[in-house]
Amino acid sequence: MDVQFKSLHEIEALRDEKLTKLINYTYHSAPFYRKRFEQDGIRPEEIKGIGDLNRLPVLSKREILDNEKTLITPNFNQKLYTRKTGGSTGMTLHFMKEALALALNDAIMYRCYNWYGIEIGDKQVRFWGVPVTSKLRWKEQIKDFILNRIRISAFDISESSCLKQYERIKKFRPVYFYGYTTAIYGFCLFMKKLGIDLNSLNLKAVICTAEKMYPHHQQLFNEVFRCPIVDEYGSSENGILAFRCKKGNMHMMTDHMCIEFLDENNQQVKAGELGRIVITDLASYAMPLIRYDIGDMGRPSDKECSCGVNLPLMEIIEGRKEDFIRTKEGKLIHAAYLCYTLKDDTVSEFKMYQKDLHTLLVYIVKSPAFNSITEKMLDKKLRTALGEDMKITFEYLDRIPREKSGKLRYFVSEIDNL
Ligand SMILES: [Zn+2]
Repeated sequence: MDVQFKSLHEIEALRDEKLTKLINYTYHSAPFYRKRFEQDGIRPEEIKGIGDLNRLPVLSKREILDNEKTLITPNFNQKLYTRKTGGSTGMTLHFMKEALALALNDAIMYRCYNWYGIEIGDKQVRFWGVPVTSKLRWKEQIKDFILNRIRISAFDISESSCLKQYERIKKFRPVYFYGYTTAIYGFCLFMKKLGIDLNSLNLKAVICTAEKMYPHHQQLFNEVFRCPIVDEYGSSENGILAFRCKKGNMHMMTDHMCIEFLDENNQQVKAGELGRIVITDLASYAMPLIRYDIGDMGRPSDKECSCGVNLPLMEIIEGRKEDFIRTKEGKLIHAAYLCYTLKDDTVSEFKMYQKDLHTLLVYIVKSPAFNSITEKMLDKKLRTALGEDMKITFEYLDRIPREKSGKLRYFVSEIDNL
């Protein structure tokens, strides 16, 4: 029987079995981990399941960066592939993966897509970044062709380009949309404005990834699509970690990875409580990452889902640790809160930078409804949360620059040591 339909108890037993195998392997084959285990006086056979993992230290991004070479298992005689992850912290990490681990990531992906009737090779419209150099662009084009997908540049979402892209999409006859939430959102805004009915495409699903879906995204998607809108939680280094099912619940890929939710003392939080997400990918042997802190926050859930899949649930990601605005008084305010504040009819795009504890810089792309009192209103709304002491500066742009990946980040904190 397909593992996802087995009982939760069986799924967890399978996970723990894979974990003991990985721990045992790293102890005997990976000097980096052997040293770590020995420092803490741990024998591999003492780690019998996810509950014992808290005896091992958490692996931070900084440690990975400092140990990129030594984390790779010596004498691992298979071809390795590199996966890069950039990110808000400004660090670029390189992860080495063996073919089997990558193939498994794809298998997990199609298992999830299949919940919506999407099959391997089904036509995809991908709202994504486009490489800057022509050589890399060419490589991506070949990949897109082989994988039966077309790409809509997340860097180029405008009224005129969207109309052209829509014609291209119609001819292509896709089965589903996939991509960055803000890119699909931007595209939908223009389609709505132009009066184009996206339902004529008969999509099976719209899968949003990499950026949190806010209520205003959801609202527009529900308006313009009749198919399911799905959010995927994954990372370039681990693939899909959790995926939303037809009943609206986020199922974790527990049969392939240990997903822990930790408090500030590295202890597991209770169901429903917010914790840092820490991942142990159970199929990566070339460069094992045991208890990797990926920098996201989420809540484990002990609820059950009626969709038939018994993989356990988690609740929506609260965003990254560095997504919090800090005030002089030591208050942490989630940037999403300010996103709601700024997201009104007068502003079409925005981005905030917290320079230091006293200074917030807000870039705004005005919408036609922006008028002479808008700035004052926005300033007032922001101050309700941030207090009178914060120096808030507004600057106006025609377009907010995207990250290298094509993603739009709403908020960047330049304060160290959050
Ligand atoms: Zn479900």
